[in-house]
Amino acid sequence: MADLPRVFTIRESSHRIHNPFTPEKISTLGQALHLSPGTRILDLASGTGEMLCTWARDHRVTGIGVDISTVFTARARTRAAELGVADLVEFVHGDARGHVSDEPVDLAACIGATWIGDGVAGSVDLLRRSLRPGGMMLIGEPYWRRPPQDQAVIEACHAEGESFHPLPDLLELFHGLGCDVVEMVLADQDSWDRYVAAQWLNIRRWLDQNPDDELADTLRAELATAPVAYARYEREYLGWGVFALMDRP
Ligand code: SAH
Repeated sequence: MADLPRVFTIRESSHRIHNPFTPEKISTLGQALHLSPGTRILDLASGTGEMLCTWARDHRVTGIGVDISTVFTARARTRAAELGVADLVEFVHGDARGHVSDEPVDLAACIGATWIGDGVAGSVDLLRRSLRPGGMMLIGEPYWRRPPQDQAVIEACHAEGESFHPLPDLLELFHGLGCDVVEMVLADQDSWDRYVAAQWLNIRRWLDQNPDDELADTLRAELATAPVAYARYEREYLGWGVFALMDRP
């Protein structure tokens, strides 16, 4: 079974949330969805499991998270125990590509990993296959706050080969896939900082402790340029949000 390359777990070693959301925004989303106790959730690419674990604590939902990272999956299980919800949520190490749950769920999510369905449309199709009739899907996805005017922006925003859209176009895309968009919670520049700027200190601390590691040169070079590039490009150009979708009858 494949595993997530180590560079990601180094960069995001202190992160509980591996996307531009804060704990408050996860909580806002949980409240906005009026989650009722016993809601069954499938979370594809669940990372360290913060969304499932805190929603289980706050709303008594149940769920399964699937993630390809052994490190993140182990951390998710630890977090579940820490929050006293290990009986409500389960974390499975596995490839989420093509993953369909055995029992239909009420809510199926793919937050910040739509490559598992080769894009937004494929991910909606994949989530649908696990959903009970009338269930809800959550997609976490970037969008352009401003149109990228050149290749430098696209590269700095890791948008090469991606088809990010401006927000209205992304919502139109969901509509075109047969979905009603029924809620959304968006990141903002401060919450992006919590995701990206937090990586710099993780990298620096790791470099101090692992100066001779084979990844040290790459990460030293990254730390030298990442803050300026982030401020110039990603922070200005890229938005991110979680969108709640329900199939139109
Ligand atoms: N949804 C989580 C994690 C987002 S980061 C959160 O919002 O915090 C992207 C995640 O996708 C990482 O945890 C990574 O390990 C996972 N991932 C990448 N490719 C995957 C695949 N093919 N199957 C399952 N998980 C995958």
